[in-house]
Amino acid sequence: MHPAERVLLGPGPSPVPQRVLRALAAPTLGHLDPQYLTIMDEVCELLRQVFRTRNALTFPVSGTGMAGMECAAVNLVEPGDEVIVGVNGVFGTRMKDVMERCGAVVHALEAPWGETFTNEQVAAAFAAHPKARLLGIVHAETSTGAHQPLEGLAAIARSHGALLLVDAVTSLGGHELRVDDWEIDAIYSGTQKCLSCPPGLSPVSFGPRALARMDARKTKVQSWYLDVSMLRKYYSGGGGGRVYHHTAPINMTYALHEALTIVLEEGLEARIARHAAMHQRLRRGLEALGLRYVPSRSLHTLNCIRIPDGADDAGVRRRLLEEYGIEIGAGLGPMAGKAWRIGLMGHGATVRNVDLVLAALGNCLNRPAASA
Ligand SMILES: *Cc1c(COP(=O)(O)O)cnc(C)c1O
Repeated sequence: MHPAERVLLGPGPSPVPQRVLRALAAPTLGHLDPQYLTIMDEVCELLRQVFRTRNALTFPVSGTGMAGMECAAVNLVEPGDEVIVGVNGVFGTRMKDVMERCGAVVHALEAPWGETFTNEQVAAAFAAHPKARLLGIVHAETSTGAHQPLEGLAAIARSHGALLLVDAVTSLGGHELRVDDWEIDAIYSGTQKCLSCPPGLSPVSFGPRALARMDARKTKVQSWYLDVSMLRKYYSGGGGGRVYHHTAPINMTYALHEALTIVLEEGLEARIARHAAMHQRLRRGLEALGLRYVPSRSLHTLNCIRIPDGADDAGVRRRLLEEYGIEIGAGLGPMAGKAWRIGLMGHGATVRNVDLVLAALGNCLNRPAASA
């Protein structure tokens, strides 16, 4: 149980700062201890700042990013509801699957992997399915590296009485994201990507229209663990009215508190600018090595590149790990064997890591790295 440290430049988890690891080691408290409740209330407030929202119902769901996806789906969808889901990669495909498991009738809005959706395509999907009650879309499609623009989508959804649900697992803390300004009704993320906290919590936020949808449900939420009508009595109970639902992951809450504090110490704008600059530096270096990006509109936080002809996919990744201690991601789904994914998330998005991975990759490909 003494794992060697790695340079985590894959699709997550990202490198975790010592400050966050030390926070995990603080004394475990009871989940109704006033000391703990103060820490947890602060986490919810810090999350509001990072999400740029005033939504009262903003809290960390117990579980990784997928728990946030399931939480949003089970609470916002009732059996028989029609929904539109953008499917252009693994996570859109999963969102469709999760919605179908909730009994939704899913109209998949499809785009080739690596592409994104235009507002016109979304409007056309609503014109074809005017009864759709929700639009689910992935902001940062980690499987392809595609960056989906969100502005304008809420207006389209609202004109049809539908909610806008966003997967922000690989964008929160790394990309521009404005929940209130962009009128996003429900959103979920994860701790282990651009927040640079270990995996284990999934920050979520629900706006007033999402709450009204939940309050108007005719059926019970099918998941007991993720039922927001019960969870909110704990997370926003306040005034001594907190009700036990499940034991909160106490020490993970400390870690998230520290990780969010670090995000806000750096400043959201500065952090987003750092991710942009590190992406540009990596892109220049990769292109100098003759490598090409998969998506036309790339994320800053996840760089998905085509594996060059003749290169040994698994062999290169193994050498990066064994000789340099660097983890990068393999291609997923139809991209398996065709793409590599280099994550520059949170604490991992540094000049040192960018230049290190460029030099190491250049060596593994027998191509000298050009200086960035
Ligand atoms: C990583 C990821 C998830 C799932 O998060 P887990 O922490 O692996 O459960 C969901 N959506 C996107 C876009 C992701 O990148």
